[in-house]
Amino acid sequence: MSELAIPELCLVVLVGASGSGKSTFAARNFGRFETLSSDTFRGMVSNDENSQEASEAAFEALNFVAGKRLEAGLLTVIDATSVQTEARRQLVSLARAHDVLPVAIVLDVPLAVSLAHNALRTDRSLEPRVIKRQQDQLRRSARNLGREGFRRIHTLGSMAEVDAASIRREP
Ligand code: ATP
Ligand code: MG
Repeated sequence: MSELAIPELCLVVLVGASGSGKSTFAARNFGRFETLSSDTFRGMVSNDENSQEASEAAFEALNFVAGKRLEAGLLTVIDATSVQTEARRQLVSLARAHDVLPVAIVLDVPLAVSLAHNALRTDRSLEPRVIKRQQDQLRRSARNLGREGFRRIHTLGSMAEVDAASIRREP
């Protein structure tokens, strides 16, 4: 069992390809309202959790709600792939705007694991090449996270590590 230490108040950014287990990890480690999922916001603004056309509106709404939570002093988790530099840049600046630390939890599980999870899913199924591209983006990003402004970076490199991890909130 490994404990991932994070500040009591921070913006946690999950980073991982589709199928890597972000939403499952968030559900196990954070409270019901603490996690803001891009898919939920896509659903709220378009009726379709998978609609890529709804991404811009979804992230605008997600940012707004995250900002309200951080203003209220509430730890907030962003459940989106966040494998693209630009997506993370916006989240780091959101955290800074509210004077909280941005923290990254990276689910860098083997591509085969994300692909296998994806193949078994009933809620969504992406083309393997999309997941491969996300994993490539994640790999290229990994060493830049500190420079991007993330103040703590926890990387989980296998499903065993993801399943063994728990969160410790530090005052
Ligand atoms: P997306 O980016 O598409 O939302 P995700 O990273 O949130 O993907 P999850 O929805 O958490 O991925 O997981 C996808 C599937 O993988 C789940 O439906 C489940 O079947 C399987 N899975 C995820 N995490 C685990 C786990 N810890 N143990 C076993 N199976 C898991
Ligand atoms: Mg998810």
